[in-house]
Amino acid sequence: MSSTPNEKISALHEAQKKLFATSKTRPLMWRKQQLAKVVKFIDECSTQISDALTKDLGKTAFEGEVTEIEVTKLEALEAIENLDSWSATEYVSAPGALMPSFCEMRKEPRGVTLVIGPFNYPFSTGFGPAVSALAAGNTCIIKPSEMCPATDKMLRDLIPKYFDPEVLAVVSGAIPETTKLMELEWDMIFFTGSERVGKIIAGAAAKTLSPVILELGGKSPLIITKEMPELEAMANRIMWGKTINAGQTCVAPDYVLVQEENVEAVLEAFKTSLENMFGKTNEQIKNSTFSRNVSVDHTKRLISMIDDAKSNGGKIVTGGSEYGDAKAKYFPPTIIYNPGPKSKILTEEIFGCILPIIPYKTNGDAIRYINTMRGTPLALYVFTRIREHFDFFMDAVPSGGAVHNDVLLHFACSTIPFGGLGTSGYGSGHGKHGFDSFTHTRGVLSKPCKGIFEFGGIRYPPYDRYGGFS
Ligand code: NAD
Repeated sequence: MSSTPNEKISALHEAQKKLFATSKTRPLMWRKQQLAKVVKFIDECSTQISDALTKDLGKTAFEGEVTEIEVTKLEALEAIENLDSWSATEYVSAPGALMPSFCEMRKEPRGVTLVIGPFNYPFSTGFGPAVSALAAGNTCIIKPSEMCPATDKMLRDLIPKYFDPEVLAVVSGAIPETTKLMELEWDMIFFTGSERVGKIIAGAAAKTLSPVILELGGKSPLIITKEMPELEAMANRIMWGKTINAGQTCVAPDYVLVQEENVEAVLEAFKTSLENMFGKTNEQIKNSTFSRNVSVDHTKRLISMIDDAKSNGGKIVTGGSEYGDAKAKYFPPTIIYNPGPKSKILTEEIFGCILPIIPYKTNGDAIRYINTMRGTPLALYVFTRIREHFDFFMDAVPSGGAVHNDVLLHFACSTIPFGGLGTSGYGSGHGKHGFDSFTHTRGVLSKPCKGIFEFGGIRYPPYDRYGGFS
């Protein structure tokens, strides 16, 4: 992968600052034109985008289309349709003591923005936030993950054909280039990635007082209570959410707590569901609908996690290291029952296709178990027929987002905010929430300047003229 030289990074930043200062990016018509270019780019280049995703992550055209390409296009179309209302000034009343005054909240662009993306959804995590940035009237630089060289190259080759670099540009590189980017002043940085790097980004941004949104990861629990919904549909939903992108999904269920009465049935249903989707364990490697891991090292990490979990008492239910092939970046969908709490699998974000299943007695025990885990989950999933039980978990377990009786779908729902809490990040994206993140709401007060509204000049010194104050 060829990296963007430092001088080019500074020049792009400078060019975007200059363009923003002309106010050219403010009119809604200009913004809609940029969003229309996003749609045109996706329509005309979907094959190249899809091919790049297949090269980097073994994603099938269908998976790439559904989870990356189409969602980004929909994000742009939704922004075009709603831009007038999202950006409309809101008029509000002033408190009585300030009367007569007229108050408004203007929705203004922030300026020059930076989007830093992770490897797992290399197109949508870069382009999705960029859509919000453009909709809000900003310029934007995207820094995709260096671990996806095909996607990076595709973006670097194609973006200049659709966008002026002063409006939208791609910077390629790894730590040195991101470090260079972080030395510059930004009006918003939208970072998606790990908690470890999130801390580095937030620390660097503090030095230039650049505002940051952090979309991080973590361990998202999934709970199946005694009163679970229909078994087969539930198992299919959970196995789909775990196996999509070979488990490299920030909101994939990371571990499952099953109320003990249901353990046997759930394990059996999970196995059947996996076989229906990908065939028998020893045949799954040939199944091209199952994505690959991003790297050989990433696959080796999963293999060592399984070894560690087995030595901590975990029993393989299906899958396992012997079916993996690190060189082919393949690790089979693996379910492991009841590994000890000190296993790496239960202390680190898995970010691969391994699902630990832990039995529990009471719903209170499940909450206590989750609360022994470090960090605040990005997502919480509860499968239960009883709404009060879902609410019970919602009250006891804080998380960025949550889903009742399904997985992942809140990510695709642009009418609700998507974001983390605590160690899973702060700020939110998607739809209007993404637009708001890249918008400065400017509070403005207007007041008629006439003696009649001075009310005896009460606000002016000397304050002791009425006695009692000094
Ligand atoms: P990562 O944090 O390693 O890398 C993300 C970006 O940071 C990359 O562009 C990389 O070049 C850059 N980077 C890496 N090290 C850096 C450093 N020392 N200084 C400056 N920049 C650096 O993340 P990843 O491994 O690519 O992605 C996986 C992580 O992302 C997981 O934790 C996952 O949960 C999280 N994630 C979160 C979301 C979300 O929406 N919350 C979505 C996708 C992925």
